Amino acid sequence: MAGQQQYGAGIWHFATYVDRYATDGYGPARSLVEMIDMAGQVRDLSVVDINFPFADPSLSLDTVEQALARNNLSVIGITPEIYTRQFAKGAFTNPDKGVRKLAQDMCDEAADVVRRFGASYVKLWPGQDGWDYPFQVDHRAVWQASMDGVGELASRHPDLKFVIEYKPREPRVHMSYDSVARTLLGIEKIGLANVGILLDFGHSLYGGESPADAAQLAIDHGRLFGMDVNDNLRGWDDDMIAGSVHPIELFEFFYTLRKNKWEGVWQLDQFPFREDAVAAANSAIDFLKHIDRALDRLDFDAMRAAQEQQDAVTALGLARAALFGG
Ligand code: FE
Ligand code: FE
Repeated sequence: MAGQQQYGAGIWHFATYVDRYATDGYGPARSLVEMIDMAGQVRDLSVVDINFPFADPSLSLDTVEQALARNNLSVIGITPEIYTRQFAKGAFTNPDKGVRKLAQDMCDEAADVVRRFGASYVKLWPGQDGWDYPFQVDHRAVWQASMDGVGELASRHPDLKFVIEYKPREPRVHMSYDSVARTLLGIEKIGLANVGILLDFGHSLYGGESPADAAQLAIDHGRLFGMDVNDNLRGWDDDMIAGSVHPIELFEFFYTLRKNKWEGVWQLDQFPFREDAVAAANSAIDFLKHIDRALDRLDFDAMRAAQEQQDAVTALGLARAALFGG
């Protein structure tokens, strides 16, 4: 199977970043076209996820399409920016009806861009939907609005897929769609076939989940529509190079996907604040390819037999031999 796997990245991997201290960024700002040209320099990258609307409102879809074409890239998803300042008190859950409408309109436009680029889905990351303080919200109302917002949107576009990327917190101190279990509960209640999960390995990890277990649960409900990987120190969404901190858990995550014959793009969601963005993407993809080959080497029958006995020592030995050799 090695060699056929498609790799992708959020285009923001090639942005320059700001934080609370370097408020003017860790480098000069880059245009979307410059970011696409950088993505084109990464070995084996074939798809990207693009934020919408574009930072430069004068940038046309034609220009973006040309930049993608000259770099042999296609679009997997469009991410409407429903998490910026105008949505400080939520997109789908905003107390202001007008702001909720703005979010819906932005997602409708993103849906049109998905059709235009022949992408796979609209990616919803409702980072501002949630709460910060005790007593700040009526929990039933906020959760209901979170579900209604996605449900109304997905019903208007039955021809498209919508994926929810859950995350425990940031920018909101607590996000409504915070975990795999809660997101699945919401999706089942929404009850539409075109709504699924995009599982971010790092969000799962720092949310205290086992990403492999989270993937299995989403697969068992027929809702694992997409995934992305990165790494962190488990206290925050550090978005570091995939495999740099938790290689064995990353291997178990991909083992779970392979075991279930899940087919899809292996995407990067990394924020290389201080690293060369192209080098950081190459580094991650090199390791993902190593994982792909390690899965070819892994004795799945022996792993199954070890797991039937909950024989951790044998199971880890099999995993380590395949991943690290010897
Ligand atoms: Fe992500
Ligand atoms: Fe993230």
